[in-house]
Amino acid sequence: MLKQIAVVSGKGGTGKTTLSASFSYLAQEHVMADCDVDAPNLHIILKPEVRETHEYIGSKKAVLDQSKCVKCGMCQEACRFEAIGFDGDRYFVREYACEGCNACVMKCPTGALSLMDALSGEYYSSETEKGPMAHALLRPGEESTGGLIAEVRKEAVSAAHEKDYHLIVIDGAPGIGCPATSSVTSTSYVIIVSEPTMSGLHDLKRIVQTVEHFKIPMGIVINKYDMNESQSDEIKRYCEEKSLEILGEIPYDVTVKSATEEAKPVVTFDSPASSEIQKIWNKVENKVMKR
Ligand code: SF4
Ligand code: SF4
Repeated sequence: MLKQIAVVSGKGGTGKTTLSASFSYLAQEHVMADCDVDAPNLHIILKPEVRETHEYIGSKKAVLDQSKCVKCGMCQEACRFEAIGFDGDRYFVREYACEGCNACVMKCPTGALSLMDALSGEYYSSETEKGPMAHALLRPGEESTGGLIAEVRKEAVSAAHEKDYHLIVIDGAPGIGCPATSSVTSTSYVIIVSEPTMSGLHDLKRIVQTVEHFKIPMGIVINKYDMNESQSDEIKRYCEEKSLEILGEIPYDVTVKSATEEAKPVVTFDSPASSEIQKIWNKVENKVMKR
């Protein structure tokens, strides 16, 4: 049976991708999926070779046919997003500002405006040194992230079926919005990466609520726990109250920084952080793959 493990965090920059990239080196036959499509960076470490590129049509934009335009300006009045401009001679659509709401199309008396499918991003089927990887890139200014994440996850599932692999490791989107929920729905287990900062516990509580909503088992990792041990204790107290398992506590380790600079997974180095990540993976693997 196919198992999917998502690594998420309440916000970006908590070490989520550091962990995901290392898991890719520790997991046996598996597919990686980078669902952080707004700001992907797993590819920097895993260096995938793109095998297939797919266009993602996630929105519609207004298109203006100048030959039908009588320059009445009604479209500009109708547009709440200031996406219709006038250059003194012609009306035109500012593609980046258009939300595809259709208001201008409805107002236009001559049928000069219509809505067309717009390219919102691309998703890729790739191969890394450690196995297949599905990933994507949303075009700047596009917001249709949930749909693009769904495509990445479909691509990962199809790669897993093709290879007869039983595990997908997901580097999830940070936060608690639509991208984050699209990253965790229908997964087998969620690893939440937290950090001992003022906002760390608050972010953790929000993401725990989201995962609880989907009734998915989860475990917590405290990254750089020794940077602020009293905040780490707060996180531990909260986890105890909620009966949430702490999978591991990763110490601050300069090797993580040098691994990032060299664009390599930290587990390829011998260091305290590396051995804690190894232990975390062993626990997760036992939990998810052997049940
Ligand atoms: S579709 Fe909506 S957002 Fe786009 S130009 Fe027309 S009125 Fe403005
Ligand atoms: S509403 Fe139609 S006809 Fe009028 S300016 Fe806009 S595109 Fe041209």
